Amino acid sequence: MNDVILLAEKLYKNHSLTVNEYEKLISQRTSESAKYLTEKADEVRKAIYGNKVFVRGLIEISNICKNDCYYCGIRGGNVNCERYRLTPEEIFLCCKEGYALGFRTFVLQGGEDGFFTDEVLCDLIKKIKNLFPECAVTLSLGERSRESYQKLYVSGADRYLLRHETADEWLYKKLHPENMSLKNRMECLKNLKGIGFQTGCGFMVGAPYQTAEHIAKDLKFIEEFKPDMCGIGPFVPHKDTKFKSNEHGSAELTCYLLSIIRLIHPNILLPATTALGTIDPVGREKGILSGANVVMPNLSPEQVRKKYDLYDNKVSSGAESAMQRKNLEKRMEKIGFKVVTARGDVIK
Ligand code: SAH
Repeated sequence: MNDVILLAEKLYKNHSLTVNEYEKLISQRTSESAKYLTEKADEVRKAIYGNKVFVRGLIEISNICKNDCYYCGIRGGNVNCERYRLTPEEIFLCCKEGYALGFRTFVLQGGEDGFFTDEVLCDLIKKIKNLFPECAVTLSLGERSRESYQKLYVSGADRYLLRHETADEWLYKKLHPENMSLKNRMECLKNLKGIGFQTGCGFMVGAPYQTAEHIAKDLKFIEEFKPDMCGIGPFVPHKDTKFKSNEHGSAELTCYLLSIIRLIHPNILLPATTALGTIDPVGREKGILSGANVVMPNLSPEQVRKKYDLYDNKVSSGAESAMQRKNLEKRMEKIGFKVVTARGDVIK
C-alpha cells in the first residue's frame, strides 16, 4: 500500500499526525486517499451525530470594521464598501424570525465595529436569551479583551467563532497589516476557551501565499487546541483587495481537509461554509458528505445581505437563505441527511 494511505490510516487510528505527516497527506493526496478519508470521516461522524445536520441562523450585524485584513471585502480601508449596521432592535427581530423558522442557534457576526460595546452586546444577548432560553447565541465579532469576552459570556453567549486564519507567523503577516498580530489572535482564542465558550477557530483554504506546509501547521494547531468548532472555507478573491486577481481555493482540497479535521476530532462541529457554497453550486452537499455537520444559512435582513461582501459573488439566496429552510432540507435529504431543529451543541 502506498505511503499516503498509510498516513490516512494512522490518522484514523490515532487522531494525530506530525506536521510533516500532515503536509505529506496533503501534498501527496490521491483520489484513493480522498476516498478513504471521506469514508472514515462519514463513519466517525455518523457514530456520534448520526445523519443530523445542525443549522444556525447567521445574522451579519455590521460591515463596519476597524481592521484592514488584506483579503477581506469589508476591510476598513475599502472605500467602495457601502457600510451598514443593524440596530439591536433589528437584530432581535431577526432572531424572532429565525426562531419561527426553526433555528435554535443564532450567530451574530460582524466587523470590529466600535458601536457594539460590551454594554450594547450584553443587553442584546440578555434580551435574546430571555425570550429564547432554549436557543444558543454564538458570537463572531473578532478580537476583544478577556474582560469583554467574560462579560459577554456572563450575559449568556454560548459560543464564539474566531478563525485563527493561519498558524504561521510569516503567512499571517502577508495577510494582515502591521498593527494586527497572530499572537493576539491566539491569545483571544485561549481566553475564549478558558472562559468557557464553545470555541471555534479556522482558516481559509487556498489563501494567497499558502502552501501545504502552512495548512499542515493549521491542522497541528487544530489538533492541539481542541476547538469545539472549526470553520474552513476556500479563499475567494474580492475585487477591492490586493488579491483581486488571485485564484480561489479549491472545493476539492477544502473537502479533503474537512475529512481530515473530522478524523482529528470526531466530535467537532464542522460547517459546510458559505464560501464553499459560493465556488461550487453543490459545495454545501460536498462539504456534508466529506464530514461536515453544520450549515449556517443567512438570516440577515434582505436589504443588507449584499453589503456583507466578504468576497465576490457571495451567495445568500435559495438554500443559503434561512427563509428557504425547506429548500435546504430537501437538498440535505437528497444526500441522506436530516436538518434538525435543535441547539446542536458539541457532544463531548
Ligand atoms: N470580524 C470577525 C468576522 C470576520 S468575517 C472576525 O475577525 O472574526 C468571517 C471570516 O470570513 C473570516 O474569519 C475569514 O476567514 C473569512 N473571509 C474573509 N475574507 C474572505 C475571503 N476573501 N475569502 C474567503 N473567506 C474570507
